[in-house]
Amino acid sequence: MSLRRLDGIDEVDHLASQVTAGAGATLAALDAAAAPAGLAFGVDLAARGSATLGGMSATNAGGLRMLRYGGMRAQLAGVEAVLADGRVVSHLGGLTKDNTGYDLAGLLAGSEGTLGVITRVRLRLVPRLPARTVALLGFGTTEAALEVLAHLRRALPGTLEAAELFFADGVDLVCGHLGLGPPFPTRWDAYLLVEVAAPHDPTDQLAAAVAECTALETADSAVESDTVGRARLWRYREAHTEAINAAGVPVKLDIALPFGALAGFVPRVREVLSAAVPGSRPVLFGHAGDGNLHVNVLDTGTPERAAAAEDAVLRLVAGLEGSISAEHGIGTAKRPWLHLNRTAEEIAAFRALKAALDPAGILNPHVLLPEAG
Ligand SMILES: Cc1cc2nc3c(=O)[nH]c(=O)nc-3n(C[C@H](O)[C@H](O)[C@H](O)COP(=O)(O)OP(=O)(O)OC[C@H]3O[C@@H](n4cnc5c(N)ncnc54)[C@H](O)[C@@H]3O)c2cc1C
Repeated sequence: MSLRRLDGIDEVDHLASQVTAGAGATLAALDAAAAPAGLAFGVDLAARGSATLGGMSATNAGGLRMLRYGGMRAQLAGVEAVLADGRVVSHLGGLTKDNTGYDLAGLLAGSEGTLGVITRVRLRLVPRLPARTVALLGFGTTEAALEVLAHLRRALPGTLEAAELFFADGVDLVCGHLGLGPPFPTRWDAYLLVEVAAPHDPTDQLAAAVAECTALETADSAVESDTVGRARLWRYREAHTEAINAAGVPVKLDIALPFGALAGFVPRVREVLSAAVPGSRPVLFGHAGDGNLHVNVLDTGTPERAAAAEDAVLRLVAGLEGSISAEHGIGTAKRPWLHLNRTAEEIAAFRALKAALDPAGILNPHVLLPEAG
């Protein structure tokens, strides 16, 4: 019998590298529970102190290490949930091989609370890697940054954990907001931050891979392996949200693109916004390793201009065969645009699932599915 701790997290099953936890436990509590077994959780995000395992599952949260471990759906080895009529479905055995029907955990992941209330989750854990190194690189073009990312993916198999892209205007905002000096004497157009993690110090491996590719592309680089140095480099990326929020109330969009369309999207979205909403100010950053960019648009002013900005960006993304919501879900705000990414047949299948599991429509009504009619 496994013991349940006060935070709702059972004793770690170290033989399986799995744990069963209550949906209300936070990501930080899970990480603390996994650490003594030499394990960690594959998903990490800045909201670790408040994000619950139930909320993260319901939103299929991606986070900073998606590149290496996948998102929440990939970590779910089982789920327990209460359906709309009060019945409980529970499949928490966590077997590695188990082809006994529909994957309810996978279905509930990303369902945004519309199909059931998740009460417990069975989660896969990963080895806790003690040695980490971060490199921040500056480039003259987005294309060069993405070429180097492609090279690093090949050169660092199994150790590359994060790859974040941001731009000169975002770094200016961060430096102004925090009173920080710039990362390099040159103001580069595009910045790539990469983190590698391994059982033994990966600094030499990362430095060699960076040297190989920065010799091909004009670039600046800084590499840090101690905790303080790594946090200093991450600050330029992680402070984007607070620096943008301090500059105004942005329209926040969260999109994903095929890798081949990412570099062209960066100038194109600026052109499209300047035509649709003159005077607006886009600030882009995101998880380039996942093809995911956060598009924040400042200075939209009126609700009409904000809606025009949203519409222009989402149509551009859909036209490039990207996703109008990479991480944040559809919620209530993106429902009018769901048809850009999902066919009528797919939306009809969504409605059939909803009707089967929640016929009275009491679970998160007005979320995800467009109004019928
Ligand atoms: C600073 C910050 C950084 C973030 N970074 C990332 C990131 O990098 N990647 C990413 O993907 N996300 C990110 N997020 C968003 C994050 O995924 C969500 O905020 C979080 O995972 C949701 O957890 P929560 O407990 O706060 O859920 P809530 O915000 O409370 O709920 C989210 C949704 O899930 C539903 N829900 C909540 N609990 C349950 C349950 N038990 N059963 C069924 N439905 C439920 C709610 O009804 C709601 O629709 C970030 C958020 C913040 C604030």
